[in-house]
Amino acid sequence: MSKRQLAMVIDLNKCIGCQACTVACKTQWTNRNGREYMYWNNVETYPGDGYPKKWMELGGGFDAAGDLKEGIIPAIETDYGVPWDYNYDSLAEANLLGPDETGYGKQGAEEPGLHPDREPTWGPNWDEDEGAGAFPADNYFFYLPRICNHCTNPSCLSACPRDAIFKRDEDGVVLVDLDRCQGYRYCIAGCPYKKIYFNPKLSKSEKCILCFPRIEQGLPPACAQQCAGRTRFVGFLDDEEGQVHQLVEKYKVALPLRSDYGTVPNVYYVPPIEGPVKYDANGKIITESQRIPAEELEMLFGKEVHVAINTLRAEKEKRKRTGESALMDLLIAYQHADMFRLDNAYYQRVAKEKGLPPIPLLDDRYLKGRSSETAPIEVPERGEHES
Ligand code: SF4
Ligand code: SF4
Repeated sequence: MSKRQLAMVIDLNKCIGCQACTVACKTQWTNRNGREYMYWNNVETYPGDGYPKKWMELGGGFDAAGDLKEGIIPAIETDYGVPWDYNYDSLAEANLLGPDETGYGKQGAEEPGLHPDREPTWGPNWDEDEGAGAFPADNYFFYLPRICNHCTNPSCLSACPRDAIFKRDEDGVVLVDLDRCQGYRYCIAGCPYKKIYFNPKLSKSEKCILCFPRIEQGLPPACAQQCAGRTRFVGFLDDEEGQVHQLVEKYKVALPLRSDYGTVPNVYYVPPIEGPVKYDANGKIITESQRIPAEELEMLFGKEVHVAINTLRAEKEKRKRTGESALMDLLIAYQHADMFRLDNAYYQRVAKEKGLPPIPLLDDRYLKGRSSETAPIEVPERGEHES
């Protein structure tokens, strides 16, 4: 266990599924060098198969006795989906691009026009907005943003036979030491959230680094900074004045995802309470009905979800009645900057204690391996699972 733990709270009532977080992360960290298919941050529609496909059915994590559970390595092609390109070049060569160069609208152009250069099979947002339930009276969905949970008990770390994964003492960020990693991929099988990825170009495993070079300088991770819905709070769990501590520990309205996996995740979610009501056969509102089934929320966030939902509803009502609710004010987050409590002075102290130059406290275990070569080894990858 680390001395301190950074954590993130994501308010699912405010996520609009815009993917600004996904793009912020992608452009910052994973748009090249074998990372093209990776989404360290993704936002999936729940219910849905998610990313990678059916990740909740792929094993990993710990059993009740604390032993590692068997897990499966998703296949890049069928479970993540290989990013495709478009045939702009061949259209341009044949002078078939329209006036706005989109590939559409060219006078007299014949099919085929603009199309992907491969058959798409899966992707990070494949089942967007499909959801479940009978349309139009009882259908539902919500967005579920996901990053690595920087778990207190990371099963990726326990699964690695090379001790190539470490948890930083100063903030609990979980990183891969790329010099030690040999690309065995036990970590991928071991992570129940499937939030660690294989880089086929480097033959190394890679994952979300919680933007630690930004964090150390007092800046929030790119996904949180760019969040259009102001859904994400970032701070240290032991910072009693911080929003993260208050939402998790004081009000207990932010809960970990699938805590039954046993890894003690440090991304917490404010559960959705704003789903639409149901309609009866005559099109009349069924009062106090909820479309998102309680058992689904319980499966995701544990039994505590009912207490959290009751607290959120009660505070919302109180706010309507009296105009006051400290919890609602906190969740509204009038100032975006107030959502982040990142202690730059703390990192400076850590650097001093370690005898390192001041910030940035870049961790060279992470950096060095980027240029090293590792010969690929054969690791069984599962075949296509039932769709
Ligand atoms: S979410 Fe997965 S990859 Fe991230 S720390 Fe937990 S077990 Fe490791
Ligand atoms: S940027 Fe914020 S609102 Fe948009 S999808 Fe990501 S978490 Fe949701």
